[in-house]
Amino acid sequence: MSERQSKATQVKNERILNDLAKYPGNDRCADCNSKNPRWASYSLGIFLCIRCAGIHRKLGTHLSKVKSITMDQWSSAQIEMMRESGGNIVVNSRINPNPDKHPLPLATDDEQ
Ligand SMILES: [Zn+2]
Repeated sequence: MSERQSKATQVKNERILNDLAKYPGNDRCADCNSKNPRWASYSLGIFLCIRCAGIHRKLGTHLSKVKSITMDQWSSAQIEMMRESGGNIVVNSRINPNPDKHPLPLATDDEQ
């Protein structure tokens, strides 16, 4: 297993994550565009609001691995995945270049 994370590393990772969250495009939820997302999917490298994070959780960890920016502990590897993704705009244009043709299944999920 991986070694335990030192407090210093944890603090550093939180700082990097908060900086990434301010990056243009990352200040809004990747899925629904709401302001100030406080969650993120580190497998996809996108920032999400709490509602969309819940939807991603239901998709399963094989599709999206979700963590809270403020409440969860982040490993350096996960931070690196967030950094390498290029952020919400880059990831969205790669995964879903035609959102008009392929809208995200947002509202439908609430009724279940
Ligand atoms: Zn959202």
